[in-house]
Amino acid sequence: MSGERLSAEQTERYQAHLTLPEVGLAGQQRLLETSVLLVGIGGLGCPAAQYLAAAGIGKLGLLDDDIVERSNLQRQILFTVDDLGGNKAEVAAARLGGLNPDVELVPIVDRLAASNAAGLIEGWDLVIDGSDNFATRYVVNDACVLAGTPLVTGSIYQFEGQVTVVDSPLGPCYRCIFPAPSPEQAPCREAGVLASLPGVVGTILATEALKLGIGAGSSLTGRLLLIDMRETSFRSVRVRRDAGCALCGDEPSIERPTAVALCREPTD
Ligand SMILES: [Zn+2]
Repeated sequence: MSGERLSAEQTERYQAHLTLPEVGLAGQQRLLETSVLLVGIGGLGCPAAQYLAAAGIGKLGLLDDDIVERSNLQRQILFTVDDLGGNKAEVAAARLGGLNPDVELVPIVDRLAASNAAGLIEGWDLVIDGSDNFATRYVVNDACVLAGTPLVTGSIYQFEGQVTVVDSPLGPCYRCIFPAPSPEQAPCREAGVLASLPGVVGTILATEALKLGIGAGSSLTGRLLLIDMRETSFRSVRVRRDAGCALCGDEPSIERPTAVALCREPTD
């Protein structure tokens, strides 16, 4: 803790945090010193990035190599028709730049894969995975567990969402919970998504990251949050570390981020 005081502008900006007992001056200073890498600036990444920037996260990495397409505008709320064809990370950084000058925005135009994951997450205090595919989710999990970096990971499907926090060795990793992707988890084709669902789930990703940054409350480590917006239902189930997990188990065999086979086509 630096013990530095906030400027008059910062005191005004973060007033609602400063009066919140769980945050206060110490918590706000901690957020201003925290770096978060956001993997994927899509439906989940847009709202997560917006809240983290507003909250005063010190440094925010925005990783995506995709361009903004018209079909994204139904749910990816940082983008407008003027942004079509632009890189998502760069457009998001430009948009968020006007929100909070305290935040160092780092657009990273790249695609995270097994070969570059360790390098991309190196140096960040915390990682949020808001990517739209299982291949990336396993690789981010591997890189974070191997580096000892806490990970907030979420996914969406039609009206449903899932969120957990991987903070190994305090709890299970993504592979403990989902040892192998099922065809249902990894649909080969786009399954559709309700416009506001990624807003719900992405905001929870940001909330878990802020709590980890502040050190307040209890995180979703060891719990899997299951959201079903058809019924507007939220429930969490306990998940445990698997002693046989190839990554974080007692005799791990995975020594570097490893791609998994995905998207099995039906055989019949
Ligand atoms: Zn594991």
